[in-house]
Amino acid sequence: MRTFEYERPSTLDSVSAALASDRDVRVLAGGMTLIPSMKMRLATPDTIVDLGGIPELVGVTADDEVVAIGAMTTHARVAGSEEVRRSIPALAELAGAIGDPQVRNRGTIGGSVANNDPASDYPAALLALNATVHTNRRSVPAASFFTGMFETALDVGEIVTRVSFPVPLSAAYEKFRSPASRYALVGVFVAVTREGVRVAVTGAAPCVFRATTIESTLAERFGPDALENFRFPREGLNDDMHGDAAYRAHLVTVLARKAVGRIVASSGSR
Ligand SMILES: Cc1cc2nc3c(=O)[nH]c(=O)nc-3n(C[C@H](O)[C@H](O)[C@H](O)COP(=O)(O)OP(=O)(O)OC[C@H]3O[C@@H](n4cnc5c(N)ncnc54)[C@H](O)[C@@H]3O)c2cc1C
Repeated sequence: MRTFEYERPSTLDSVSAALASDRDVRVLAGGMTLIPSMKMRLATPDTIVDLGGIPELVGVTADDEVVAIGAMTTHARVAGSEEVRRSIPALAELAGAIGDPQVRNRGTIGGSVANNDPASDYPAALLALNATVHTNRRSVPAASFFTGMFETALDVGEIVTRVSFPVPLSAAYEKFRSPASRYALVGVFVAVTREGVRVAVTGAAPCVFRATTIESTLAERFGPDALENFRFPREGLNDDMHGDAAYRAHLVTVLARKAVGRIVASSGSR
């Protein structure tokens, strides 16, 4: 049996001190990815630092401009938050469609963005909404945070403390999920902001990305019909047993159209 140390500090300073060690120290959030990785020996930390004892990492604050979510806030809490549902309903909906109830009640937004699984949902929202990831050292725009498959701009010893989302004019998220894992085979987040339309795609490629060709098409005319004959290129998309690149490319357009259609329908009903 492999042994490891377990610590549960109550302040961020104590977390930073624990992470300063030159041993393999990992922070534990909801454990939905870290614990299975340890069981499979894919991660073999010497010490685990549980972030669950730090109240300031949990919760949602919102004003007219920004919604800020603490790193240890669970997906279930985001999905049920009055503030998120009022300001960015698409974000609450996204959180409510992650995994299953067990995953939503343990998994956290901080763990999700730090892990940057290529099929996870939050990165699409962060990129489309032009969010900022706040850490114990600095603030990083989402556009520079997600750097590759399971890779982020986080340095050794750096942890996510909160994510802040500018409130968009409107937004919608559409996801085609794997029936087994509930992860996104492809997910498309469309946000209409004061600066223009932003479209981010998850699941389709090794890392979340902005679909700038869809954005420029929608900038000319915002509506599902604008994408009727649009063909998203398959180059660079994932090609695996869950779906080939051509299928994923097709899904990007289909889901973008659906998301745009929902935004148009909701603006008509307001
Ligand atoms: C069955 C199943 C289905 C799932 N379905 C979906 C889905 O449909 N969509 C989706 O998006 N996700 C899905 N997930 C992922 C899940 O929602 C979690 O987001 C994910 O497991 C990581 O969050 P966590 O809080 O559990 O992090 P942990 O497992 O505790 O940590 C994951 C990694 O992030 C690091 N970490 C954690 N918190 C921080 C922090 N604050 N700062 C820096 N590093 C940190 C840890 O050290 C570890 O390396 C699924 C997971 C499972 C097991």
